[in-house]
Amino acid sequence: MDTVARMRKLGFRKWYERQLIESHLYLVTCFLGIIMAATAIELSGRRESVAGLILAAALGLAGCVLSLFGWQRYKRIMVVAEHIGDHATCVQCNAYARFTVVDAGQALRQEPVDIENASEVWLKVHCRKCGNEWTI
Ligand SMILES: [Zn+2]
Repeated sequence: MDTVARMRKLGFRKWYERQLIESHLYLVTCFLGIIMAATAIELSGRRESVAGLILAAALGLAGCVLSLFGWQRYKRIMVVAEHIGDHATCVQCNAYARFTVVDAGQALRQEPVDIENASEVWLKVHCRKCGNEWTI
């Protein structure tokens, strides 16, 4: 399910909450990767056996991949969630997060969101309180 579909299903507040939880899980994944890489450096310093070195190299590589993956996902989610969160208040009636999604750019219809494609990260919303429409 893409960002727009999930936001429609959950509503903005719940979607935002879940984005924060999900992003922090990726941050934990990132830290786990860093710990793995640090362990690998520690292990390789012992120079006990060739098998041990290979294991340390594999662990180090896996740790690097994991931490990079976790960090990128974390960043991506935070950039999108923060951007939408910052513009979730209706300028006409000041209602926060009381909108329905009318339309959205291509980037928000992809999973994960393609933040490199900044011109496609937009959301057209309709205020449920006063009917104002704006683009985030
Ligand atoms: Zn409004």
